[in-house]
Formats: sequence, structure tokens, C-alpha cells
Amino acid sequence: MLLVGKMKEKINIKGIKVQKINTLLMISGAALTLLVFTLTFQVKSRYRAVIASATDYADCSKAIEEMRIASDFMTNQVNFFSINLAPVFMTSYFTEKDIYRRRETSVEIIEFTHKNDSIDLNIKFAKKESDALIKFEYLIMKLLCESSKIPEELIPEAIINFELEENYGRLSALEKLEAARSLLFNAEYVASKARLNRYIHEAHSDLTSQYMNTKKNGDQVIRSMLSKLILFVALLFAVCVFLYFHLVTLVLRPLFKNLEAIQNGTKMKLNGSYEIKYLASSYNSLCERNEIRASELRHKAEHDSLTGLINREGFEIIKAELSIPESIAYLLIDIDFFKDINDCYGHKTGDDVLKKVAELLTNQFRKTDYIARLGGDEFAVIMTKFGKSIKNIIQEKVDNLNKILRSGVDGLPVVSVSVGVVFSEAGYNESLMEKADKALYRVKNNGRANCSFYFEGDD
Ligand code: GH3
Ligand code: MG
Repeated sequence: MLLVGKMKEKINIKGIKVQKINTLLMISGAALTLLVFTLTFQVKSRYRAVIASATDYADCSKAIEEMRIASDFMTNQVNFFSINLAPVFMTSYFTEKDIYRRRETSVEIIEFTHKNDSIDLNIKFAKKESDALIKFEYLIMKLLCESSKIPEELIPEAIINFELEENYGRLSALEKLEAARSLLFNAEYVASKARLNRYIHEAHSDLTSQYMNTKKNGDQVIRSMLSKLILFVALLFAVCVFLYFHLVTLVLRPLFKNLEAIQNGTKMKLNGSYEIKYLASSYNSLCERNEIRASELRHKAEHDSLTGLINREGFEIIKAELSIPESIAYLLIDIDFFKDINDCYGHKTGDDVLKKVAELLTNQFRKTDYIARLGGDEFAVIMTKFGKSIKNIIQEKVDNLNKILRSGVDGLPVVSVSVGVVFSEAGYNESLMEKADKALYRVKNNGRANCSFYFEGDD
């Protein structure tokens, strides 16, 4: 219970939670990715709008130019016809007007993308002026046809059907020729031509400024969007870098260090993220618990459950440790007539006597001495680091012990112990047990309740 409490207390640790950081980074990464996608899409559509505007500019510019070219072409055909009276010029004129119809096509193209704006209006005004010129040109061509002997089948139907006003109808052929040629320089005709050119020019300059504005705006917007895009991509990169470094510093590095700790059998250090600290803390607590359990088990295995003294197995370890050149005193202690105690007072009282003897031995000897219960009513003590008066000291301790035991201490039956002692300059060896036993045997044969020292030649 105490251990569990300790573990809980230890696991109550503080630290940066990788899970939280990851969630935050994932959310910011997702938000930035969304922004990057949105901006990319917007840049793409803006770019398309600029491209569409450029295409529109090219198409409309050509259409406006075609209006001027077609109109000039027709005027030129009339001029050429007035000079050499060749009907082919009239044919070219009407081919342009009725078959190629470039003027009408221009109007349609402009109307398609610029309906009702200034470009559309100007091109329509230009077309109107061009139509007004056509009326003049029909009159000129009619006068020219009537002034020359052009066969009727070579004259276009529109000119045949054109009716001359009376004042022109009365004129002679030569007069009609002169009238036609002078009409080409008629102030109204020339002014109409000039207006047509002005409308075309204005349509073109409006188209140009409209295109330039769209392009400029598009450029600005695309530029600012690209700057934002670069910023967001940089932030996204920063998120990735942060993700990498925090995983390395908070998770991977501490994890590898902890793996080293596991391999070396040492405790883990509380480094890194909360999760890794939690893991390390749990692992350390588990290790501590196992250590305590192991030492408990070791203690149990090496100690006598009745008296708490070192048992035979534990004593074997101590004996092995003391098998070095060192002065030791080996005492073999046996309770006198212990069997009778069991028989007269019962096994329980016998156990109490054993416990009392163990307690008295512990009190009599030093902390540095090794006291063990070898089994039954047999005990052993190994003393190290003693002076010359060791025999007296041992004798005194045994006498004290027997004095207490014989006083019926704690209401226990009167008992005594016999002790066999042997000394060695070369640490412990197996012959000591036998020698101590011989010394003990001597005590048992000489009235018990005393101690005897083994000496060479005792055999
Ligand atoms: P001696 O003076 O010659 O030693 O005579 P003794 O009666 O003491 O003879 P011995 O040492 O052979 O007797 C040991 C007895 O100790 C035998 C056994 O019944 C008893 N005994 C052994 N282990 C225990 C124990 O754990 N508890 C109790 N109560 N008695 C034990
Ligand atoms: Mg005995």
C-alpha cells in the first residue's frame, strides 16, 4: 500500500505534453495548408483573368483595327474607281461590304465582351459613320457609272437600284464625272471619315486603358497574394521543422537515453516530454518495487523466520565472504537440555526460549559480529577485529548470557547455553565448525552452561 502511494505520488509529474503540441501543430499545419490552397486557387483564377483580359485585348484590338481597315478599303475602292472607272473596284467594294462584312463582325466581337461600354458605343458610332459614308459612296459610284459606258451586267444591283436626285439626274455624263470626283473631297464626306477614325481611335484607347487597368490590378493582387503564399509556405515549413525538433528533443532523444538505461539496468532520467517522463517515472517506480521485493525475498531467504537471525543459507554467504586472511573467532552455541523444555512446557515455550536466546545474543555481541541460527537450538557467532583479551570477553559474554537465562527471564523456564569457541588467523574454513563442535562437546561433558576454547591437540 505504501509502495502504491509512493508510485502515485511520483507519477504526478509536470512536463510538456507531446500530444497537446502535436494537436496544436496539426491544427496550425492544416489551417496553413488550407490557406495555401485557397491562395493558390485565387492566384490561379486571378492569373486566368489577366490572361483572359490580354486575349480580349488582342481580339478586340484586332476587331477595332478591322473596322478601320474595312472602311478604308471601301473608300479606296471608290477612289480607284473614280480614277480609272474599272468595275472591278465596285466588285471589290461590295465583296467587302456584303460578303466579308468585316465591319459587322467587328461590331459583333466588341459587343460580345464589351456590351454597352465606351468601346462598344464608339465602335457602333464608327459603324454608323461608315454606313453614312456608304450613302455618299453609292452616289459617287452611281454618278461614275452613268458618266461612263459600263455595261449594266457589270454594275452591282445596289448601284443600279440607287436613285439619283433630280439635280444630279439632269447632269451630262461629263458633269456627272466631275460631280462624282468632287464629292470625294466633299467637306461632309471628309468630316464623316475623320469622325469614323476618331471613334475607332477612342475605342482603341479605351480598350488599351481598360486592359492596362485590369493588368495593373491583377499584377498587384497576384503580387500581394504571392507574398502571402510565400509567408504561409514559410510558416508551414517552420511548423514542419518545429514538429521534427520537438519530436527529436522531447521524444526520440530521451527515449534512446531510456533504452540505454534499460540495457544498463539503471534508473531512467526524467527528461523529455510529459509522456516520456511518465514512462520513466513508472519504470523507475517498478524498478524500485522490484528492488524492494528482491531485497525482501533475499532477506527472507537469508534469515530465520522465528528469531530474525541470519539462517544457515545466509551464514554460508557470510562464511564465504570471511574466507580471507583475517583473525576470526567462531562460536558454536547450543541450548542445554532444550528437548526437555519442549517436552515439559510445550513447543510454544520452546520457541519463546529460542527467541529470547537470539535476542540476548544480539544484545551481548557487537553490531559488527555475525550471529546466526544454524537450526534447532544451535546458534553460531563469528567475531572479527578483536584484541588480545578476546577470550575473557567471550567468557564474560557467555557468563552474562547464562546468568540471565538462569534467572528465568520474562517468565521463561530456566535454561543455559554451552559454547564452543575456536580462533583462526586465516579467516573462515570448514575445519572451524568441527573444531568448535569439539570444544562444545567438551562443555557438554563438563557440566554445560559454560564455554570452552578449542586448542591444537584437542583432537
Ligand atoms: P543437549 O543439552 O545435549 O543439547 O540436549 P538437548 O535436549 O538440547 O538436545 P538437542 O540439542 O539434540 O535437542 C534439540 C531439540 O530442539 C530437538 C527438537 O525437538 C528441538 N527443536 C528443534 N527445532 C525447534 C524449534 O524450532 N522449536 C522448538 N520449540 N524446538 C525445536
Ligand atoms: Mg541442545
